Amino acid sequence: MATLERYLLTDEQKDLQAMVREFADKEIIPRAKEYDLSGEYPKDLVKQAVDMGLTRLSLPKKYGGEAIDNQTYAIVKEELARGDAGFSVTIGACYLGVMPVKLFGNDKQMQKVADCLNSGGLMAFGLTEAAAGSDSASLKTTYVKDGDSYILNGTKTFITNASVASLYTIFATKDPSLGAKGISAFIVEAGTPGLSAGKEEDKMGIRLSNTGEVVLQDVRVPAENLLGEEGQGFKIAMNTLNQTRPTSGAGAIGNAMFAYEYALQYAKERKTFGKPIGKHQAVGFMLADMAIQLEAARQMVNYAARLMDSGIVVPRVFSSAKAFGSDVCMKVVLDAVQIVGGYGYSREYPLEKRLRDAKIYQIFEGTNQIQRVIISGQILA
Ligand SMILES: Cc1cc2nc3c(=O)[nH]c(=O)nc-3n(C[C@H](O)[C@H](O)[C@H](O)COP(=O)(O)OP(=O)(O)OC[C@H]3O[C@@H](n4cnc5c(N)ncnc54)[C@H](O)[C@@H]3O)c2cc1C
Repeated sequence: MATLERYLLTDEQKDLQAMVREFADKEIIPRAKEYDLSGEYPKDLVKQAVDMGLTRLSLPKKYGGEAIDNQTYAIVKEELARGDAGFSVTIGACYLGVMPVKLFGNDKQMQKVADCLNSGGLMAFGLTEAAAGSDSASLKTTYVKDGDSYILNGTKTFITNASVASLYTIFATKDPSLGAKGISAFIVEAGTPGLSAGKEEDKMGIRLSNTGEVVLQDVRVPAENLLGEEGQGFKIAMNTLNQTRPTSGAGAIGNAMFAYEYALQYAKERKTFGKPIGKHQAVGFMLADMAIQLEAARQMVNYAARLMDSGIVVPRVFSSAKAFGSDVCMKVVLDAVQIVGGYGYSREYPLEKRLRDAKIYQIFEGTNQIQRVIISGQILA
């Protein structure tokens, strides 16, 4: 299939991209429809990804990881989501899980993360609650100090890898009336008494990812599992999401890239009025606009990732990469469905699923309205 080639990659990036693309083409894409229809968790594909080391890519080398930079990770994320958006979210939750510990954790805590990932475990990031999504500072899960441990109570909702993770980052408050200042972050290991998976979401799209509740009933967590200091939890959550947003944009681009490639191929083969539909200017220009937008979104993600790799934190750029990438994804996939016509609308063919998958990128890791709140806040300050 024709694709939008990437240029100026390092040899390491080329190798990694080729490896993930092959995995996507040979293993993920052929199985995606079956898992999407059944809603079953793709255990065998996840095992293959774990064996390939894809969950440990961002882990520092001294902990057994690959320590790849964010620019390279964005390439991997795009390729995985080109394979399947939901599958890339399952694997991406590990990158999201490593980030708060990398930013605020200590050596012992990073070792816990490493033990989880190196033994094939997955991670989950537990911030959202039923009444605290965009307004996450109003969360209600509580913690109390009890000797040399903390006791957590509450329910997290919409958590990726809720029932399959081995290690969770849980955000809780010592007093909801304190707002953001009352929140702390804890590492919680699966199997800790009182921790369980609750209701699983039956989702519109990204059905190859597991999303659900994480229930905490008198969960006793050792004090050494507190990330950073008490009261730093909201800062930890916001800093983490700030830095993972660009790769959320990369995932969106990957999902759209599949749809673009599919529509492009179709436009070369499908004939109406004696010529391939791509030769009708209306369709050719739609494809050109798709290519322009994808290229622009990719460059924005790459720029955000380069800033992150240089230690330069510019929230408006990170939010732009996420918002633009996901808006482009929605538009490109919608246009791809249009180009493929009735076959784009049929569940027999892959674009209908890609359209359902596309929507999530405008919602999670901070909705695109919230990204605009962040961007306008920064430019108007
Ligand atoms: C598949 C999936 C996976 C997820 N994975 C995780 C995960 O792993 N960990 C985790 O912690 N969370 C996760 N989430 C939660 C996700 O981040 C939230 O759903 C998201 O932040 C939105 O919160 P909400 O659904 O409560 O919507 P709300 O916050 O109730 O927002 C509803 C609408 O109001 C708009 N809105 C709200 N406030 C404002 C404002 N100030 N200005 C303008 N518009 C506003 C929103 O943009 C949205 O359109 C996941 C969600 C889904 C669906």
